[in-house]
Amino acid sequence: MALLAVIGYPISHSASPVMHNAALRALGLPNRYIAIESHPETLQKTLKTLHKLGFKGLNITIPHKEAAAREAVKLSEEAEAIGAVNTLQRLDDGWVGYNTDVEGVERCLSPHVEGRLNRVLVLGAGGAAAAALYALWRMGVEKVIVANRSRERAEVLAKRFRDKVGLNVRVIGLEEASREARSVEIVINATPLGITYHESMIGPEDLTKHHIVLDMVYSNLPTPLQRAAISTDALYIDGVKMLVEQGARAFKIFHGVEPDRALMERAVRSWLARRGVPG
Ligand code: NAP
Repeated sequence: MALLAVIGYPISHSASPVMHNAALRALGLPNRYIAIESHPETLQKTLKTLHKLGFKGLNITIPHKEAAAREAVKLSEEAEAIGAVNTLQRLDDGWVGYNTDVEGVERCLSPHVEGRLNRVLVLGAGGAAAAALYALWRMGVEKVIVANRSRERAEVLAKRFRDKVGLNVRVIGLEEASREARSVEIVINATPLGITYHESMIGPEDLTKHHIVLDMVYSNLPTPLQRAAISTDALYIDGVKMLVEQGARAFKIFHGVEPDRALMERAVRSWLARRGVPG
């Protein structure tokens, strides 16, 4: 039996163990997936220890994605460009880092997108936003607008993508997001707004039935952004879909087989419902 884990701080909110264990059981694989809480100060030691203990693979969540990328002995092309990992696969001499959030974003959006995309609004400038930018670049999007609370962090992200891949990125303040939403085809929420804070920068007045909204937060209650999208007939894709897509890609890296995505989604949704609290 091999062990796998998701590492974060805190970690009790993570649906990854339920999702991965459901997929492992369905395939009859004898491996087990657990959650490990690690403080940022002890992350380096935790990664070394888990490698020594023989862990087969790890998922990395808030706030460790960038620090874990620095610990990897090798990075995939997208992890290198983004500077953050959410998946570590065991090599004999350390961990190789991937960023499967990129494929998560692509697989969530691609079925709903026809032809060339002109303008996309991304809320947030952290690791998830960086993965979204890389996915949008791969999808051939013309222009990305990044709205973030900390403008400085967004400028750093924008510069990184202009320099690395030549993506056309403009930075705005979070308070301007509402106005800009009206001029784009897709809105991606890559902030925790909507779970912990029960608020959204985007309201029904900013959306139409032509918008696609990808909300990375997952919750058992409709988020304010979800309510706004539904009331305007915009296409809404929730964070559970994103979780499943990024998790399915990580599963394939870990075990070499495709998991059952529908089963993973059912496992996450019923876990969220049983928990009875958002997030
Ligand atoms: P991160 O690197 O810590 O970045 C957090 C981002 O959210 C930053 O842009 C931050 O703005 C912004 N933010 C945090 N609190 C805020 C607040 N109160 N008001 C306004 N903005 C706020 O985290 P991340 O990895 O990018 O993740 C972002 C969110 O996406 C999290 O909720 C995470 O759970 C979710 N996510 C979901 C999936 C999935 O599979 N469903 C995958 C990845 C991420 P500042 O820069 O100003 O601090």
